[in-house]
Amino acid sequence: MSKKYHIVTYGCQMNVHESEKMAGIFHRMGYEETNKKEEADIILFNTCCIRENAENHAFGNIGALKKLKKQKPELIIAVGGCMTQEKGKPEILKQKFPFIDVIFGTLNLEELEALIKRKQSQKKRVIEVREKEGEIVEFPDAYRTSYPNAWVNIMYGCNNFCSYCIVPYVRGRERSRKAENIVAEVEKLVKEGYREITLLGQNVNSYGNDGNTDGVNFAKLLDMVASVEGDFRVRFMTSHPKDFNEEVVKVMQKHRKICRLVHLPVQSGSNSVLKEMNRRYTREKYLSEVKMLRSYFPEAELTTDIIVGFPAETEEDYLQTEALVKEVDFASAFTFVYSKRQGTKAAEMQNQIPEEIQKDRIQRLVELVNSQTRKKSEKYLGKEVEVLCEDFDEKKGYYLGRDEFGRMGYFKSESDLIGKFVTLKITNANGISLYGEIISVR
Ligand code: SF4
Repeated sequence: MSKKYHIVTYGCQMNVHESEKMAGIFHRMGYEETNKKEEADIILFNTCCIRENAENHAFGNIGALKKLKKQKPELIIAVGGCMTQEKGKPEILKQKFPFIDVIFGTLNLEELEALIKRKQSQKKRVIEVREKEGEIVEFPDAYRTSYPNAWVNIMYGCNNFCSYCIVPYVRGRERSRKAENIVAEVEKLVKEGYREITLLGQNVNSYGNDGNTDGVNFAKLLDMVASVEGDFRVRFMTSHPKDFNEEVVKVMQKHRKICRLVHLPVQSGSNSVLKEMNRRYTREKYLSEVKMLRSYFPEAELTTDIIVGFPAETEEDYLQTEALVKEVDFASAFTFVYSKRQGTKAAEMQNQIPEEIQKDRIQRLVELVNSQTRKKSEKYLGKEVEVLCEDFDEKKGYYLGRDEFGRMGYFKSESDLIGKFVTLKITNANGISLYGEIISVR
């Protein structure tokens, strides 16, 4: 019987894709995936540290394995991801959970196989967290779980040091992959039948700024990826408003394969808050980028991230965020209450905002965003929309897919249409979900 692994993933898309790479390593080692912890020979936690409650959650789940490890001493428990890369965290993990066998960081993910083998050949636990980012290591195949969508890293790390964010401390400085390796990966994925490629980076617009790409910048890379032959869509995330530019939009105009949706995190509509956040753009610059994008494609949609209750945010500042949300009319927004992250500049700032004010602001903002999203949905009624079918919802009994703007469309079908582009006539818009009947499939 083959050995089994189980991975628990916390956090963002970057982590989800890194778990796919870790799974790829386990498959090459001859392991199979299991969704039951009790059956696993290796349990791996791929952690996140963006918020303190993500860490607490991981701590709780790791702690819960104590009993299983006692019953099954040969079980290997490994912990990797952003949390292990935080200063002092490996020590805390070591002391709190003496039964963890392997601790590794985001900067030495490629050593996972060697570390597991080292643990298997010795009694001692293995702790290997590299402090400084090294050369990019090109991974052999990831074990992907997101068909028909595939994530492709174009770069790692971040140079921006937004004052609330821990990412630059745990993922190191920006390192760009070579364009030819990215294009080769996309070509392979398209040949394998993937229909949507999402280019991933903390700040995709600064691709190539590290001088590693022989002069290829993000616009050029996007052009190269969208020029790969085949019937597929291209997305990219995340764009940073300080760097997003017309050159990229011109490439979007050249290729209909590129979705006309840009995820452009604004974080706040107030210049004084943006300054304290060290975002390095103003509200005016942000709005001028939105205008520029829509001058090319009036139908273009934007999604965003917003933080409310940042230190010293006044009611006036908050209202400027509301006004910006109304002006841009986002397709959707990920809204967060500011929470202190130890090790960041903002955690030391005076004038932290009381919880009840934060709560009040987030409620008002969520209401506003939801009402805008609902209004947008209603406009779809009676229209034709093309979605990429990505799953079957057992509970609802419907297939589902997303259009290029990320809107979810549900429909009935006798045959399995996962991985097909399906054109729907929208008959019902229920909140943010659309329901429709099939017109055509390709
Ligand atoms: S751009 Fe800012 S928010 Fe995004 S990962 Fe970098 S530091 Fe964090």
